[in-house]
Amino acid sequence: MTEPRKSSRKVTRKAGPPEADAVAPVFQAPEVPASTPDAAPSQAAESQEPAENAPREQKNESREDNGGNGNGRSRGRRGGRGRGRSGGNGGSGNNERGNGDRSDRSERGDRNQGGNGNNRNVVKSMQGNDLTRRLPEPPQQPRGSVRLYNLGGISEIGRNMTVFEYDGRLLIVDVGVLFPSSGEPGVDLILPDFGPIENKLDKIDGIVITHGHEDHIGAIPWILKLKHDIPIYSAKFTLALIAAKTKEHRQRPKMIEVNKDSDLNIGKFRLRFWTVGHSIPDALGLSIKVGGNHIVMTGDIKVDQTPYDGKPTDLPALSRFGDEGIDLFLVDSTNATTPGISNSELGIEDTLIRLTQRGRQRVIVSSFASNVSRVQMAVNAAVATNRKVAFNGRSMIRNMEIAEKMGYLKAPKGTIVSVDDASKMAPHKVMLITTGTQGEPMAALSRMSRREHRQITIRDGDMIIMSSSMIPGNEEAIYAVLNNLSQIGAEVITNKDANVHASGHGYAGELLFLYNAARPKNVMPVHGEWRHIRANKELAIATGVPRDNVVLAQNGVVVDLLNGKARVSGQLQVGHLYVDGVTMGDVDADVLSDRTSLGAGGAVSITCIVDDVTGRLLESPRVSTTGFSDDDRGVVPEVTELVENTMSDLAGQGENDTYRMVQQLRRGVSRAIEQKWKREPVILPTVIAMNSGSRVIGDEDVEVSRESL
Ligand SMILES: [Zn+2]
Ligand SMILES: [Zn+2]
Repeated sequence: MTEPRKSSRKVTRKAGPPEADAVAPVFQAPEVPASTPDAAPSQAAESQEPAENAPREQKNESREDNGGNGNGRSRGRRGGRGRGRSGGNGGSGNNERGNGDRSDRSERGDRNQGGNGNNRNVVKSMQGNDLTRRLPEPPQQPRGSVRLYNLGGISEIGRNMTVFEYDGRLLIVDVGVLFPSSGEPGVDLILPDFGPIENKLDKIDGIVITHGHEDHIGAIPWILKLKHDIPIYSAKFTLALIAAKTKEHRQRPKMIEVNKDSDLNIGKFRLRFWTVGHSIPDALGLSIKVGGNHIVMTGDIKVDQTPYDGKPTDLPALSRFGDEGIDLFLVDSTNATTPGISNSELGIEDTLIRLTQRGRQRVIVSSFASNVSRVQMAVNAAVATNRKVAFNGRSMIRNMEIAEKMGYLKAPKGTIVSVDDASKMAPHKVMLITTGTQGEPMAALSRMSRREHRQITIRDGDMIIMSSSMIPGNEEAIYAVLNNLSQIGAEVITNKDANVHASGHGYAGELLFLYNAARPKNVMPVHGEWRHIRANKELAIATGVPRDNVVLAQNGVVVDLLNGKARVSGQLQVGHLYVDGVTMGDVDADVLSDRTSLGAGGAVSITCIVDDVTGRLLESPRVSTTGFSDDDRGVVPEVTELVENTMSDLAGQGENDTYRMVQQLRRGVSRAIEQKWKREPVILPTVIAMNSGSRVIGDEDVEVSRESL
């Protein structure tokens, strides 16, 4: 038999229309190691749990044998490391932060303060400063407090989701996705971990969405699969994007439109909104009042004073919330490390017109598919230079259809044509506006660069304008596309060459304006990787927020807000929930690590048929390789011999448990191949125990079974 993989809770359901009566299945991402390796590198190194601490049977053998391949992945932090599950409490499950001292000193010192055995429920030490330590489960929520935690979005840019709890009821803000890295082969999406709310689905009063980017709406269909009738509140354009997205999953969510002037109660939560500038229409910031606590969220924000759509971040509104007193302010950290003020949208249109005028052949503008303002600028540039516009890429076509229908995108009649029509026009009469800014292999621009696009062939002299930024992690893919385009002879213009892009997230200088307008008592930096979140913390402090009042709360860390005080009170177990194809939850860090190993070293499979009593081989083992080497004639006999010897030794020791045989085979073969070939293929042993029937029991057999007693 093959070794059963120790799985954490794995429940999978096919995608499809939600079933109203069915009991909601439970989904939870695989558990991550207790000490999250997301933290600052120096701390992470210290905090990695030695796998030896975990009970033997809890360790995943393949991980061990593969020499920690999981660590070598480009984003190894997504689990697959250290396999010491928190259940095993491999030495770091205790909260060792015993000191109530919340001075600056504790920031450096508390890890050394020991306080062992002092496993208190309430964490009084500085707010999550030592982010490598796992905190205890949170205690019961204090009466009158509002409790909040993120199920994604902190230590990563993507899959934003914040849960608020008050008096047993829940409000959720944003339910986004994260796109996988090359370290997660075959994964389509990464969702927030719904585990901590799986038993509270009936208590959710509503989902509020700040704006329509994928990192804020992308996981909505997946939470609706758990409970289909949770009402969703958002602005008009955002709801239109959600409707289109959920329709693809054959869902029709309950949606309630709000705008900057709305003032409504969702259960006990009073919600108000304010206009924020970003890179998509209808972005909203929030004000949440519940039980005397006032929380304000920026959502994704920039403070462009001359935005293209004429709707700058409403600083006066933020200031009025500040006058009421803001107990907790959740602030976008994406560009907190960049000093100064971000580029304005003003001026980009002129650049696009100038470039388009210069273009002698086709002009191709690549933009984020939801950046309606930017697309409008490109359309205007096309109109100004007598070109027709064709949208290319599924999300671009879909979003611009919505935007045009709703009046967010305006083009003179006849300007917009199909790609088919555009491909038949003279090149200098055409502008294509396309997806693929991040080098996504299936997006239109990538396919054009590989000459695999059905309708469009890039030619020498075409101009490609990348009206976008590189999202960290995508550089390799983007440069591959740009190089391919250059090879063909196209001129590639990025925001390094000309003013063709402005970020949708404010730089440090803009965040300072926000802090001064809001004057919050407590601050929680969100939406960013660690360096962004840490930098944002310092910005808040620079404007006078006491250091102790800035909460660094990674995904799963629970913050209780009561009487104007925000305190970290514990931590929930959260991880990543992977979507592969139509299922969520059936791929975990183990599977991903195997996929990575398979890609890197191929596989060696071994089949042994053994006697079910003696454990002896009944025939010669079968060994084959996949993706290991062109010619495996060298490795197969050697592995076969090794397997024969191993099995014989095991039988000699009286081993008749196929599970343990598989483990031994995997370990031995893996070690031998590593030593001789310096490779780490995935070893796939199968041991089948058979009743040999007509077998004659010899003296040796008797001897062996005695030994095993
Ligand atoms: Zn956004
Ligand atoms: Zn975002």
